[in-house]
Amino acid sequence: MSDTFKAIMVTRDEARNQSVTVKTLTEDDLMDGDVTVAVEATTVNYKDGLAITGASPVVRRWPMIPGIDFAGTVLSSDHADWKPGDRVILNGWGVGETHYGAYAGRARVSGDWLIALPDAFTAQQAMAIGTAGYTAMLSILALERAGVTPDAGPAIVTGANGGVGTVAISVLSRLGYHVIASTGRTGESAFLSSLGASEIIDRAELSEPGRPLGAERWACGVDSAGSHTLANVLAQTMRGGTIAACGLAQGMDLPATVAPFILRGVSLLGIDSVMAPRPLRETAWARLATDLDPQKLQSLSRTIGFDDIIPTAEAILNGQIRGRVVVDMTG
Ligand code: NDP
Repeated sequence: MSDTFKAIMVTRDEARNQSVTVKTLTEDDLMDGDVTVAVEATTVNYKDGLAITGASPVVRRWPMIPGIDFAGTVLSSDHADWKPGDRVILNGWGVGETHYGAYAGRARVSGDWLIALPDAFTAQQAMAIGTAGYTAMLSILALERAGVTPDAGPAIVTGANGGVGTVAISVLSRLGYHVIASTGRTGESAFLSSLGASEIIDRAELSEPGRPLGAERWACGVDSAGSHTLANVLAQTMRGGTIAACGLAQGMDLPATVAPFILRGVSLLGIDSVMAPRPLRETAWARLATDLDPQKLQSLSRTIGFDDIIPTAEAILNGQIRGRVVVDMTG
């Protein structure tokens, strides 16, 4: 096994201009942690796109190796829960933001941040799900905790062609929901139907300023867009319905009124994958192993190499990526 490995490094000059380079590192260059992992697969999430391009302040320490999630095998460990050879997954915890992240051959992290890779998945399959898919499952678990069931009515999924959206559609349809997919890429309707979407609507229906309340169209939903889209989703949620909000693909703002909450008893659930406690992560990954059809997982993902990470980060911000991208780090 080579002692050196490649890493993507984000740096910032005195004028705060960010640049990205590929460097060759050794384990001595890594940050502190009690477990060192051979990174076998990672992915490019929307947040990674923001980190690499500097479009949003995701990186909060320079220099930084971006990459918010990985799957791999433990090489060495001083942590009671992990030993060499264990197969692990990491999502979030500030990795790729304040702690050196996934876009390197090795990662050294706190063992408290790791969970076991379910037997159902290879490292590459786990990263085909990635933080986006795990966040989709956290959203669905939140809906279930709120008592939502498929017989309550249709489920809306916004950002349908994205990482969160594709996994949310796949799992919700497998659970028996009538899924309404909202997308700006209606040309991908056949793909969304193949994942399990029963209806497809143009996201333009939801992305402009709307009325405080509209016709009741769905009982629950997973929103990865925020802004006017989430406001309109809430305004068109059925009485007693529940929406899980996990993203800001349209915007960070929420130009809504309280009308859906106080006149229809609608609930809005916030989803944070980064600091989610370990038992919830384990539940989410266990449910992904049972509730996500492996064939759909394959159809919604494609594999790239380390050298493709930077251009893919730019493409995801331009809305040019469909579904999930797996980075195979073993090549
Ligand atoms: P992707 O880029 O894969 O997907 C986002 C999708 O949103 C796009 O594919 C597109 O779908 C849609 N979209 C893009 N721009 C707009 C717009 N202006 N208005 C409405 N819809 C738009 O990202 P991910 O799925 O990885 O992440 C989705 C969001 O969730 C991001 O904001 C991300 O930061 C957030 N996120 C949050 C997490 C958390 O812990 N809360 C964890 C993971 C992700 P289409 O082409 O079908 O319209």
